[in-house]
Amino acid sequence: MNDTMQFRIGHGYDVHRFAENAEQGAHVTIGGVEIAHSHRLLAHSDGDVLVHALCDALLGALALGDIGQHFPDSDPRYRNCSSLLLLQNVLTLVRTEGWNVSNVDTTLVAQAPRFAPHVPAIRASLATAMNLVLAQLSVKATTTEGLGFTGRQEGIACYAVVLLQRSATA
Ligand SMILES: [Zn+2]
Repeated sequence: MNDTMQFRIGHGYDVHRFAENAEQGAHVTIGGVEIAHSHRLLAHSDGDVLVHALCDALLGALALGDIGQHFPDSDPRYRNCSSLLLLQNVLTLVRTEGWNVSNVDTTLVAQAPRFAPHVPAIRASLATAMNLVLAQLSVKATTTEGLGFTGRQEGIACYAVVLLQRSATA
């Protein structure tokens, strides 16, 4: 990588589909926070779309591939695991390569559940997992006005962008 480069930008996108049937006591996990919802998300892991998009953004910033290459679905170690563990592994890689996270911006796309009331808890969870302060972590939520697969409540999508800054010690 170019030695003089001080910043790198990364983008990530992820989608998970809801299970077909409603389940009593079901929840979705977003940013490590369990949020009650009629349907759970189908996934090999906990289906944390926000954390998966974030991992892809971090890896993308350094052109290190994507989450599927680093944590393959075929690996039993990642079955039902907390995606925050994957995020911590990715961050270790980022810091080992000599970079720090400058800031993160994410957009959850879902008709339901409503994420706005959970945004403070999600940001706090990410701050702890990533060892960042709240001002570095933006979490937003939007609907698609009933349009498309998220509008039909078939799943949840999430976009993430990150800015990395070369660490002083690198
Ligand atoms: Zn995913």
